[in-house]
Amino acid sequence: MSRIFDRLDNKKKREIKVLADFISVYCRQNHRDDSKEALAISDDRLRRSLDGKRLMLCPECSQLLHHGIAKLLLCPYDPKPACKKCPTHCYAPGYRERVRKVMRFSGPYLIKHGRFDLVFHYLR
Ligand code: SF4
Ligand SMILES: [Zn+2]
Repeated sequence: MSRIFDRLDNKKKREIKVLADFISVYCRQNHRDDSKEALAISDDRLRRSLDGKRLMLCPECSQLLHHGIAKLLLCPYDPKPACKKCPTHCYAPGYRERVRKVMRFSGPYLIKHGRFDLVFHYLR
């Protein structure tokens, strides 16, 4: 498993951070009553790319983020296209729709709350 973390370049780090931020916002606002646990991250490089933040997520969102991170790390493209423009779409059935739902919610939410810094990374 640790080998796939060798593929963690700056672009992937940025995309993982965006995904984590957006899922985190989505979970906080939509799964308020669900029990949450700190996301377990074994790799230091990956933890650093999330700014060392302790992400509290419900099991459903935690699973979605783990899936997204694994797919980004295993992405066969170099340079990697934006996932939304990718001809392959490697996400497992259902996950792509779930990520879309998260992005559709969290993008406008963050803009409304003045977090242009986070949205800016998504648009880059
Ligand atoms: S959807 Fe495409 S670009 Fe995104 S991780 Fe999968 S293969 Fe790579
Ligand atoms: Zn959640």
